[in-house]
Amino acid sequence: MQKPIPYGRQNITEEDIAAVIETLKSDFLTQGPRIYEFEEAFAQYIGSKYAVAVSNGTAALHLCALALNIKEGDKVITTPITFAASANCVRYCGGEVVFGDINPETYLLDIDNTRDLLQNSPKGTYKGVIPVDFAGRAVNLEEWRELADEHDLWIIEDSCHAPGGFFEDSKGEKQFCGNGKFADLAIFSFHPVKHIASGEGGMITTNDEELYEKLKQLRTHGIVKGDQLYKNSIDFAGGNGEYPAWYMEMQELGFNYRITDFQAALGSSQLKRADEGIKRRREIAAGYYEAFKEKPFILGQSGVVKGHAYHLYIIEVKDRLGLYNHLRDHNIFAQIHYIPCHLMPYYRQFGWKEGDMPSAENYYKHCISLPMYPTLSEEEQKYVIEIIKSFYG
Ligand SMILES: *Cc1c(COP(=O)(O)O)cnc(C)c1O
Repeated sequence: MQKPIPYGRQNITEEDIAAVIETLKSDFLTQGPRIYEFEEAFAQYIGSKYAVAVSNGTAALHLCALALNIKEGDKVITTPITFAASANCVRYCGGEVVFGDINPETYLLDIDNTRDLLQNSPKGTYKGVIPVDFAGRAVNLEEWRELADEHDLWIIEDSCHAPGGFFEDSKGEKQFCGNGKFADLAIFSFHPVKHIASGEGGMITTNDEELYEKLKQLRTHGIVKGDQLYKNSIDFAGGNGEYPAWYMEMQELGFNYRITDFQAALGSSQLKRADEGIKRRREIAAGYYEAFKEKPFILGQSGVVKGHAYHLYIIEVKDRLGLYNHLRDHNIFAQIHYIPCHLMPYYRQFGWKEGDMPSAENYYKHCISLPMYPTLSEEEQKYVIEIIKSFYG
């Protein structure tokens, strides 16, 4: 019997384990040097000026929403084909989520659809947009920045699927996901199914120093430490001409969204193999593409796309339920990404209903994500392909 093949899984090496153990024996389990090292290494890998490590990708989104000051009633546009957290961060701050339909070829938030939304409302109706580098395919943020500037919007790039992914800009230059050149903020997750695993973990990247400082403060309860920043007087603080060494101030309502040092150590160790992982993911994608191109049961597939980070390899098929069950019967655990967010019971209460997002809903009827992770062996991939072909006869 074939051993179970999931759609995604982490790859932990002896080196990763050693890095964690070393941190466990060190002086800091949290708030120590491994966190800053991870942030530095990650910013360098992505090409952003700053990076802030947090407890998970959802916390990263929440901090971004707070840093951009989303308030009650503010409207923000995102895609329905994403993990719910991309939209939920707007709700955490009392904002209103407006879903825009996807482009049926790229599966990404459709820029023309969003442009229509923006042009059909008075200026100032929308505050921001959250495009998602879905499945690992980089959003063309140069185009989105132009549109955002016309309408005074900020951009949070949800790059959870795409560390190491890129698009080519109008000058032919590679623009890596999360590099901060076009988006105000970008976020990543280090959940075990993602490219870089730290158990739980997340990162925010930006080139904006003010947002960077704000994010660090919000990550730790809104507390600041540093003479120049204090609002209370030295007298109040109990100092004699200077603030005493114990002194700190809570200036905003923040959270504890810190990552631990041993998670950061694991993240840094994994980051060293990130490029290797993407290379292997691209090989696997090419293998699927070759196996399925021009097959009559394929309605669409991710294909071979330059700069794609291949968090997921998605095919659209006839009889998706049949294929899904057939794969399960053969110990292959494919997955569906995603059930459209606007049709979740939580979002239906705001009036979203079937028919609102035709492309997203049609995509959901046929999509299935095939096993995709660097340690998927050639034989395992062959087995997956064979079982799929056998289902369609
Ligand atoms: C995984 C993921 C998140 C949330 O990350 P967590 O670390 O699980 O909180 C957000 N957005 C997308 C697109 C994701 O895939």
